[in-house]
Amino acid sequence: MPAPPRVLTVAGSDSGGGAGIQADLKTMLALGVHGMSVLTSVTAQNSLGVQGAWELPADAVRAQFRAVVDDIGVQAVKTGMLSSAELAGTVADLLAGLDRGVPVVVDPVAVSKHGDPLLHDEALDVMRGRLLPLATVATPNLDEVTRLTGVVVADEAGMRDAARAVLGYGPRWVLVKGGHLPDADRYVEAVDLLSDGRTEHWYHSPRYPNRHTHGTGCTLASALASYLALGHDVPGAVGHAKEYVRGAIEAGFPLGAGIGPVDHAW
Ligand code: PLP
Repeated sequence: MPAPPRVLTVAGSDSGGGAGIQADLKTMLALGVHGMSVLTSVTAQNSLGVQGAWELPADAVRAQFRAVVDDIGVQAVKTGMLSSAELAGTVADLLAGLDRGVPVVVDPVAVSKHGDPLLHDEALDVMRGRLLPLATVATPNLDEVTRLTGVVVADEAGMRDAARAVLGYGPRWVLVKGGHLPDADRYVEAVDLLSDGRTEHWYHSPRYPNRHTHGTGCTLASALASYLALGHDVPGAVGHAKEYVRGAIEAGFPLGAGIGPVDHAW
């Protein structure tokens, strides 16, 4: 049997199994690619939030990356929780050494749904100046757009401004995830904008009332990386990734006393 495409997640561990590398690897299994992981940090986490987080030494991040890239190889990479400026810089150096043809999805993870910080403020400059320029696609939500660019988005016109502002940092494409738009008229649907500065793709999907959405962002970014590794172009890969996330949210289930995870076995 030929080997499936290999996809690498560079991200944090969620002990509760809902987000982070656990969500990434489940997504990759479901989509038929071989998932690999470089851990940046370990969180003690459950349905109620993040109780603790420990960063790995930069040397450990470098060693994991070299181990998988030099032997197994990668067809796509996804980055998630990078935690500190030092780790974000280490990851940027490693990604800069990859073949230019390997797509890189940068999910600029900043805060969890519970409001727990996942990226220190001093790492934002590294994200802007060194990671975003290497991204094939950056996938910020509206809170992350505001933290990265200062742009506050209230409607779809604001999403255009947001896309332009993020593209200013150099990613080839940006997917602005409008799932948190405050506009009441839009409550029934989630709107996302994909732009490369010349073309725009708007994705409209129904909102599901399910509150068990832990891991949604990680799942979208790793599904996107998986579809890119499988040979889809960026607009097509985003469409497929959104469909995968839709199913996973619809099937999300209660677990613990708080917010349960999306389900990868839908
Ligand atoms: N924990 C880790 C390790 C993550 O990478 C993320 C998001 O990227 C989260 C928690 C937050 O997940 P959510 O906001 O879906 O609860």
